[in-house]
Amino acid sequence: MPGEPQDDCLFCKIVAGHVPATIVRETDTTVAFRDINPQAPTHVLVIPKVHYRNAAELAAGEPAIAADILREAQAVADEDKLESYRVVFNTGSGAGQTVWHTHAHVIGGRGLQWPPG
Ligand code: C5P
Repeated sequence: MPGEPQDDCLFCKIVAGHVPATIVRETDTTVAFRDINPQAPTHVLVIPKVHYRNAAELAAGEPAIAADILREAQAVADEDKLESYRVVFNTGSGAGQTVWHTHAHVIGGRGLQWPPG
């Protein structure tokens, strides 16, 4: 069933509290935690509690929660006092996706180049 927790999903385990993470925010629908391998002074992942493989599938299945992710990205930026930040959804292995549970990278706290690599 779309949205159901997956036994083999690392981020479902973080949502369930079975894998530790440095959680910075939690809502009824989302969890935000610091990336274990930060690429910038602020590097937080915002994930839905429900399991979807990527941002597009989340938006199709639970559009309100996709909007929650973006609101939470701003909340993370506000908490870390970021005037500028980047939100990235790597989608597909060619784009660097390694965890198959929707996650927004919220990156900031340093100058960010464009285009990204
Ligand atoms: O976009 P991608 O799928 O590559 O992002 C997965 C992210 O999850 C990586 O930035 C990785 O450092 C992070 N991660 C984490 N905690 C874990 C495992 C992975 O923050 N326990």
